[in-house]
Amino acid sequence: MKLIISGPPGSGKGTRASRIAKALSLAHISTGDLFRKEIADGTELGKLAKGIMDQGKLVPDEVTMGMLKNRLKQEDCKKGFILDGVPRTINQAEMLKEITEIDYVINLDLPNEVIIERMGSRRTCKGCGAIFNVKTMPPKTEGKCDHCSAELIQREDEKPEIISKRLQVYDNQTKPLIEFYNIINLLRNIDGTLMVEDPNFWTQLKTVLKVSL
Ligand code: ADP
Ligand code: ZN
Repeated sequence: MKLIISGPPGSGKGTRASRIAKALSLAHISTGDLFRKEIADGTELGKLAKGIMDQGKLVPDEVTMGMLKNRLKQEDCKKGFILDGVPRTINQAEMLKEITEIDYVINLDLPNEVIIERMGSRRTCKGCGAIFNVKTMPPKTEGKCDHCSAELIQREDEKPEIISKRLQVYDNQTKPLIEFYNIINLLRNIDGTLMVEDPNFWTQLKTVLKVSL
């Protein structure tokens, strides 16, 4: 199965994508994670991406899709995959058509207010990258990671002014994709407020994908 998961930034796409990948034995491909790996590795691509990402803007389509095309050639993608965070523009969706077919686009429906609330309370561990939420999943000691005791920080692109910038980018550039995939009958909506722990999430997913889990 070849899937795309779409939804606004902060809709919990990443968590859902990784759980869906596990349940359906798919490769989980997140362009955000691929960029962050390039940054951590100190590559040229990483240096280019970092400046853009810190401002909440989009990395150029050619760069993103080139990186994705290479990733999809790897062995683990043969069993199927779920794309997370890509395509992000109509142009990327057009480019994707030349790279691979897609079976379904799972769209997480969620109001902007919920997103702002959720993202603003996220904290990331400087040491191991673990994610916490000061409201829903606080660390045992304030400001310190449960796993490695390193300092918890707010990701540069999860600060309030950058969140609203990212939502603006989403509304202008990514939202039109919903209609793009709806017209060709690939779009499947799921209630974005449902957590992965909620059985209703999986019930909705099974129904839209016509699979048993
Ligand atoms: P989120 O889904 O929460 O916005 P991601 O981890 O997917 O976060 O992406 C972080 C940043 O990486 C984006 O704000 C953007 O700068 C860059 N990025 C990720 N995917 C793409 C893409 N498909 N096209 C352009 N830029 C991207
Ligand atoms: Zn840690």
